[in-house]
Amino acid sequence: MRKIPILMFHNISSPPRGKRLTSLYTHPASFHRQMSTLSHLGYKGLSLQELQPYLRGEKSEKVFGITFDDGYLDNYCNALPVLKKFAFSATCYLVSGFIGKQNDWTRNQNVQECDLMDTIHVRKWLQEGMAIGSHSHTHAHLCQIPAERLENEIFHSKILLENTFQIPIEDFCFPYGEFSPQTLALLKKANYKTGVTTQRGRASQTDDIFALPRVHMTKRTNLALLLMKVLTPYEDHRRRVSGL
Ligand SMILES: [Zn+2]
Repeated sequence: MRKIPILMFHNISSPPRGKRLTSLYTHPASFHRQMSTLSHLGYKGLSLQELQPYLRGEKSEKVFGITFDDGYLDNYCNALPVLKKFAFSATCYLVSGFIGKQNDWTRNQNVQECDLMDTIHVRKWLQEGMAIGSHSHTHAHLCQIPAERLENEIFHSKILLENTFQIPIEDFCFPYGEFSPQTLALLKKANYKTGVTTQRGRASQTDDIFALPRVHMTKRTNLALLLMKVLTPYEDHRRRVSGL
């Protein structure tokens, strides 16, 4: 059974100095090298939507998933041209209550403030063949909030994105990687088709499609490490929950 690496990116830009969570940055030149290398090896990068037949075992080819959490504007500016160059698609998980704003859910935590895509950027992102999913409405800790707010984060976010962009929203990404049997049941009830976590590992048919593991891409992911993460069980051995 072929394992499917689903790459988890955040910012695609130069990491700021003296801030927290800068490991989540991938330099644009590194991103280009990574996509170029995988393309040369015969791999095709796909959005979660396009990856589904592979995750269900209906198709088997050299594919990998490309995901971006939070909806940073730098994904549009720096990742989109590279994705187009290699004819890859990707899913960007948007926080529906923060479109066109900044990543204020990390305010006062010494994390770099970053612009997020606005509706015009997202429409262009979609027009270029890319995909979007929901990353909740407010980037909430889904395992720490009351039940009625939890429904709002999962249902309202989907409806809002569907109404704004006039497309079905079927892919969900758990903020901070937090999920529970209750949140998984709500994803199904809301008619999502997939869910991704921050658990490390490559995905396979035996995984719950609502709690898929991903391959962590950080500023330290050089080409040797990328190949280990994609082609070997390196990430599978590091399967654990980590909050991002
Ligand atoms: Zn996030």
